[in-house]
Amino acid sequence: MNKKTIEDIGLKGKKVLVRVDFNVPLSSKDPNDEITVTDDTRIRAALPTLNYLLDEGAALILCSHLGRPSSPDDKQFTMDPVAMALSDALERPVIKVDEVVGDAVSDAVADLEPGDVLLLENTRFHPGEKKNDADLSRQLAELADVYVNDAFGSAHRAHASTEGVAQVMRSQGKPSVAGYLMGKEIEALGTAVANPPHPYIAIMGGAKISDKIKLIDNLLQTADKILIGGGMANTFLRASGYETGKSLVEEEALPEAKRLLEKASERLILPADVIVAPEFDPDAPDEVAMVNAIPADQMALDIGHQTVARFKEEIRDAKLVVWNGPMGVFEMPRFAKGTFQLAEALAELVDLGAEVIIGGGDSAAAVQQAGLSEKMSHVSTGGGASLEMLEGKLLPGIAALDDR
Ligand code: ADP
Ligand code: MG
Repeated sequence: MNKKTIEDIGLKGKKVLVRVDFNVPLSSKDPNDEITVTDDTRIRAALPTLNYLLDEGAALILCSHLGRPSSPDDKQFTMDPVAMALSDALERPVIKVDEVVGDAVSDAVADLEPGDVLLLENTRFHPGEKKNDADLSRQLAELADVYVNDAFGSAHRAHASTEGVAQVMRSQGKPSVAGYLMGKEIEALGTAVANPPHPYIAIMGGAKISDKIKLIDNLLQTADKILIGGGMANTFLRASGYETGKSLVEEEALPEAKRLLEKASERLILPADVIVAPEFDPDAPDEVAMVNAIPADQMALDIGHQTVARFKEEIRDAKLVVWNGPMGVFEMPRFAKGTFQLAEALAELVDLGAEVIIGGGDSAAAVQQAGLSEKMSHVSTGGGASLEMLEGKLLPGIAALDDR
């Protein structure tokens, strides 16, 4: 996808509005507490973009949403703790304003010098943000000479700070470009969608098939094979005529599962064996069952050893692997083996020159837990956004950026 990035434009002396993803975890939900940021990973992830802009001589106006406030009265979602964490990470002062737009903001922006960093209040404190309100978009655009979107995780939503503002910038002849994080996502996921190298193997898992039907449909257009594990495998197994005991099965998705199985014919590969337990419990005794012999009083909570071996065999010659959805209930160590062993196999594949892309919030968490995030070619930061992109959709926040 040919979108301009921060490296394609002049930045010296410019006021740059950057939509970042500072939707970070907080220490408390009680507005009367002294709230702090408990994990600044997302703030640190933005530093390459922010430091580049600062080094190039820009002044920064940063904005993000934080949590799901229903109004500005939900003070626990103020950006004040984020300003502190950002200042620590950047090792420079951060000016924080208490509005998203308005006179106080315009005044603060007027005073900005190159190297200054201003943080706006939570964009979702403004009722126009989620409505993609034209007036809010215009007020945001008026603050800056350049707009940078580095919040991939919000790119599938057409909100004022993601899509609306970029459209207004364009109408005013001002650049809207991708930051480094956004640029990497566009590059990695865009290639998988539009121009994948082959053999291209997709691996799908996670809890539910219903969330991912469109994704599987699109992967059947682009990928050579799809390996299925996790909870969704049970629905496919049932649709293929197997008894699945107490396993999580989405009855209402069975017709779609049957349709996908027919459409895929041999290209959709289901588990041959699974790890079963009598309860959804971390201490439940586990055993292996072949998929044609899942006991009626047991549920499948992970893929089995034969399946892991088969999946490893299937990916061996792959040039591209896209993985979405854990192979089992990886949150419970007993049922995490399939997921972790696959993650290890994928890390080895990267060493052999293949491209391995991880998409989805829980999948990213699983790879992180396995200590293998750094080994993968790309771990997408956007849960919903990466799924929609892999479905082949053009995300509004990306579409609105300037073409190269
Ligand atoms: P992602 O966020 O990567 O898209 P999902 O949200 O679709 O992934 O699915 C992740 C969840 O699926 C995890 O919480 C995991 O415990 C659950 N899961 C995986 N396998 C099973 C299974 N066999 N039975 C029940 N839940 C499962
Ligand atoms: Mg999830």
